[in-house]
Amino acid sequence: MDLWRFALDGGLLEGALALVKLPRLQDELADAKGEIFFRVQGETIGVEHPGGHGKAALRVSVSGELPLICQRCLSPVAIPLRIESRLELADAESALTQEELEDETLDFLPVAAGKAGFRSALELVEDEILLALPTAPRHDDCALPVVEAIQTEHPFAALAALKGRVTD
Ligand SMILES: [Zn+2]
Repeated sequence: MDLWRFALDGGLLEGALALVKLPRLQDELADAKGEIFFRVQGETIGVEHPGGHGKAALRVSVSGELPLICQRCLSPVAIPLRIESRLELADAESALTQEELEDETLDFLPVAAGKAGFRSALELVEDEILLALPTAPRHDDCALPVVEAIQTEHPFAALAALKGRVTD
C-alpha cells in the first residue's frame, strides 16, 4: 500500500495475523501455529513537511504471545508481545535534520513518494516484531539441561534428544 496516502487519509488496518505469514520470524519460533493481533493507524500532524508532504505518522500496535525458544532449557516459552510504536514518515529522498536525528522521542520510517514507497502493512508489522524480540528469551524459572549426566550415556543420543526438544 501507499503508506503516505494511508497515513494522510487516517487509514486503519487491524486484525489477526497468523504467525506462518511472517517469514522473517520463522527461525525464532518454536512453532508457527499461533496468531497475533495488529493494528496500523494512520494520522497526520498538521504541519507541512519541507519536502511538500504533510507530516504523516503511523501508529503500530501488536499484541499476543510468541512461542519462542528458551535460551536456557531449549524448550518453547510463550513470550508476551506488546508493541506500541509511533513512526513518523520521512521522505526517503531528503536527509533528516540534525534536530530530528537527536530527538529520541521520534521514530522515523523512510518512505519514498509514489510507487517506490509501496510497502505492505504486514512487512511493517513484521519489522516492529523483529525489533521487539528479546535477545535471550527465557522462562522465569527453569533448570539448565543436565548436560554432564546425559553425556555419560551417549553423546549422540543426548544431541538427538536436545534436537527433538527444539523441534517438538
Ligand atoms: Zn526454559
